[in-house]
Amino acid sequence: MSRYAKQRIYLGKEADARLRERRVAVIGLGATGSVIASWLARAGVGHLTLIDRDLVERSNLQRQLLYGESDLGEPKAEAAARRLADANPDVVLTPLVTDLTSGNAREVLTGFDLLLDGSDNFEVRFLLNDVAIATGTPWIYCGAIGGEAMVWPLHPPATACLRCLMEEPPESADVDTCDSAGVLGPAVGVAASWAAMEALKLLSGTAPHVDLVRFDLWRNERQFLKPPATRCRYCRERVTEFLDARWTLKASRLCGLEGVQIRVNPPRQLDLPRLQERLQSRTGSDWHRAPMLLRGQDGDNRITLFSDGRALLHGPITPERARSWYSEVVGA
Ligand SMILES: [Zn+2]
Repeated sequence: MSRYAKQRIYLGKEADARLRERRVAVIGLGATGSVIASWLARAGVGHLTLIDRDLVERSNLQRQLLYGESDLGEPKAEAAARRLADANPDVVLTPLVTDLTSGNAREVLTGFDLLLDGSDNFEVRFLLNDVAIATGTPWIYCGAIGGEAMVWPLHPPATACLRCLMEEPPESADVDTCDSAGVLGPAVGVAASWAAMEALKLLSGTAPHVDLVRFDLWRNERQFLKPPATRCRYCRERVTEFLDARWTLKASRLCGLEGVQIRVNPPRQLDLPRLQERLQSRTGSDWHRAPMLLRGQDGDNRITLFSDGRALLHGPITPERARSWYSEVVGA
């Protein structure tokens, strides 16, 4: 019996065959992204691009279903691609270990039939919304926090956009994160499975739900919110402020871990062999180099440098000190 026999009974032969021709990007391969990517790969979506900037950490394993102990310390995008290739070798999988920024989002996210939000932050979501407005690509908002799941399929200008509901990203102090509110695995599963279902509709030729769906699974609540009746000026006039923004070197604290991430915009290629020499002589210890990253210890901090210019500094370091470390060692 064919791999897709059971879904073909439901979708019909033609709609099922359409899935083989579709190209989808999953942005973020954490908790929600793991489940979304699993459903789409197993359903036989033709091309899946898996985008994530992070490495697998032990605190991920409670809810990030694509990973296990043997993946600790590996880039998530690559570990996810390995697991999904085993689940369905027919799918063309492209892992990208990169940080989505205004400098690269348009380039990285062009040429897809659908963009799936597997991120955990509004910076990425407002970028996705801008890419959708600029390129006409549909995207699906997907979030889980505490016991709550939220999903919203968007395809501006045919539908509302994220900014029609929320003009600006919320202040970081106002946003619950997995760090402040915690999150339960099954809430993630519901959000991501709902988003994957909407994706299967859209990719096989059926219109997705237009409402913003919110479940609070812990408090037994369900809401279907109608999208705003009027369009905001951003999607109406195709104003893409987040894509147009530019910054050079940005440091942010890591969610859930002691440490700082540094990113450079626009991304640039680092000369990892040369940096390896420099860092080994600076620290007097061995640095490990892989095709896309360089890793070692400097003082109290465990440091990973990526070939696209990004750096993760795990340890008791402040964002300001991390920026100066980067400028000093890597050059900014
Ligand atoms: Zn709008």
